[in-house]
Amino acid sequence: MKNRSESEALAVEQLSETQAQSELKHLAKLLRQYDKSYYQQDNPDVDDATYDKVRQRFNAIEKRFPHLIQDDSPSQQVGAVPEGQLGKSQHLVPMLSLDNVFNQEEFQDFVNRIQRFLNLDAENIKNLSFVAEPKIDGLSINLTYKKGILTQGSTRGNGIIGEDVTENIKTISTLPQKLPGKVPDVMEIRGEVYLSKQGFFELNESQLKNNKRQFANPRNAAAGSLRQLDPEITRNRPLSLFVYAQGFSSEPIAETHHDFLKQLKKWGFLVNPLLKEVKNAAEAEAFQQEMALKRSGLDYDIDGVVYKVNSIALQERLGFVGRSPRWATAWKFPAERAITRLKQIDINVGRTGALTPVAILEPVNIGGVIVTRATLHNEDEIIRKDIRVDDYVILQRAGDVIPQILGVDPSSLKKKRSEPFHFPDHCPVCGSKAEKPTNEAVWRCTGGLTCQAQIEERLIHLCSRDAFDIEGMGEKTVSEFYHNGFIHQPADIFRLAQHQNAILHLEGWAELSLKNLLDAIDKRRVIPLERFIYGLGIRRIGLVTAKILARHYSSYLNWKQQMLTARIIGSEERLTLGSIEGIGPAIAEEIAAFFDESHNLKTLDDLSAELTIQDAENPKSGPLAGKTIVFTGALTTMTRPEAKDIAERMGAKVTGTVSKKTDFVVVGADGGSNARKANSLGIKQLSEEEWRNLISSSN
Ligand code: NAD
Repeated sequence: MKNRSESEALAVEQLSETQAQSELKHLAKLLRQYDKSYYQQDNPDVDDATYDKVRQRFNAIEKRFPHLIQDDSPSQQVGAVPEGQLGKSQHLVPMLSLDNVFNQEEFQDFVNRIQRFLNLDAENIKNLSFVAEPKIDGLSINLTYKKGILTQGSTRGNGIIGEDVTENIKTISTLPQKLPGKVPDVMEIRGEVYLSKQGFFELNESQLKNNKRQFANPRNAAAGSLRQLDPEITRNRPLSLFVYAQGFSSEPIAETHHDFLKQLKKWGFLVNPLLKEVKNAAEAEAFQQEMALKRSGLDYDIDGVVYKVNSIALQERLGFVGRSPRWATAWKFPAERAITRLKQIDINVGRTGALTPVAILEPVNIGGVIVTRATLHNEDEIIRKDIRVDDYVILQRAGDVIPQILGVDPSSLKKKRSEPFHFPDHCPVCGSKAEKPTNEAVWRCTGGLTCQAQIEERLIHLCSRDAFDIEGMGEKTVSEFYHNGFIHQPADIFRLAQHQNAILHLEGWAELSLKNLLDAIDKRRVIPLERFIYGLGIRRIGLVTAKILARHYSSYLNWKQQMLTARIIGSEERLTLGSIEGIGPAIAEEIAAFFDESHNLKTLDDLSAELTIQDAENPKSGPLAGKTIVFTGALTTMTRPEAKDIAERMGAKVTGTVSKKTDFVVVGADGGSNARKANSLGIKQLSEEEWRNLISSSN
């Protein structure tokens, strides 16, 4: 026999009876667990789409092997048995669930089943009509009225016994507690308690502030709010209610569902205004589409449309099967995709300075999660998909993670759209220039040392081992000082002594540990140029590049001056920078961008004022000290990097192309254009042998 996981991969039609039995047992256990988390703890383990898939397979297996259906099967049960400290109350008429359909074909099957059950002929089927109501994603409530007075409110629970939430439900101001006019002696009115999207956000925000659990979606938030032991807590949660069904009634209320809803309105209840009568599957499909479009604009969540046979007499004839009525079904929206309006495009600045466009969306529920933002990745992506503000976009939640925008919904494209999005060329956080390096898709903020989005990361880098190597200023301490406002920019690290008293008030700091830290910081007031350059955290400037720059420019002042001129494209200094071996034009572009940003210059000045920056250690004597050399052509006795390393250790600067500043060129085999240029500029040329003699003479 195949094991269970193998059998789960099989289509239901291929299952043997033993496999079906084993899988049913497994799925029943899973569904019970999911139900418990969802209904009792208001804290789902999985999203609704995943839950629905499990349930669909479970139902399909039971349908194929009906004799395997157990009395306690999840298909025969509604919700979960109430637990907890709230009082229990029994419904006069059970509160059931609804069957689901997901497309027009399935809806037609639902209509056909009704037709068969009632044995309706073609003429009668024309008269059959349904009331279509948005399916509010909240929790159902049973309201008992005796002689027009609200006497009890209870949750659905397991459909038979619910939790008594009378005092809590009375806190909902729109709920009539005393009904006017003629009212049946005893009646149960049913509806959905929900939290508006806005109410949900506000509630989650305050939960966050108070270090309390966040709710996954408005439905769970509404359930959690209604099932409070203290009604005062419920009062502070902005719950609302739509009513849509009757349970027990001591006398008939209306002949059609439509008229029943009208009567509810007369009694003062809130009935959803979007409901509509439809006659067949085609009209239902049209309404479905209309609702899918309206969905994002509603202040509350809907997860589909409920279709109910309008005639109460027919409803009674149709009755129930399992846990659902035969006369109603819920046509659910496709779970994982949604369409919503793109309200605006914000720019998020990451810790490394990358500018990422973020779509700010009209809140929409995808598979049970409210989505308000989605990444647009980068400028090219926006251009490729031609996404503009005010468009309706198709959203998808892939594998339950970050939602992505698939593109603009073509059916909702307006003739007059907004202008294409103009990607900002300045950082929205610090106002520094943003640059999009050649051949890259991402714009970056150049104000790394001042930009609040990046500064914490930069400060951590500056103190790290290969940079300033300040003992005791690890990631945690830097973050702590940054968040306490002691350090905002690199120079502040060297002014920490000003905050001694405040630091001593922080947990874990004592006189001695603080003294050790301040000593360690003081030790780094004298810093080698290469560490200083590396510590600035300029993009693409790693340790090796920082060393090359330090050796080439020798002193901080010289480096800074040259870099200020190197900002100009085409300047001699820019060309020199780009032609230093190991630097190249892309790195030159990054350095130039850094120096082009006035915020960075100010920060650089502040920091250097606190320091003594040591010149790079270049040998001051010997045949190569201070010389600028170019290697060209292949060397036979050593590799190019080896030759370069030797030259640099002897105090030379090695560049890639010959210029007026070159002192001599070492020409290997096939010297090429550099050799020709050296010829034309009259620069001294050395053969490989002469080069070897030169270096050995100084050893
Ligand atoms: P249901 O939500 O599919 O449909 C029945 C409910 O719809 C009713 O009880 C009522 O509360 C509600 N409803 C809203 N508007 C209505 C209207 N106008 N008329 C009539 N009813 C209306 O059924 P259910 O049994 O409450 O829950 C099953 C669904 O709940 C699943 O399909 C799943 O999406 C979700 N669920 C999720 C998990 C999970 O772990 N994520 C667990 C259990 C249930």
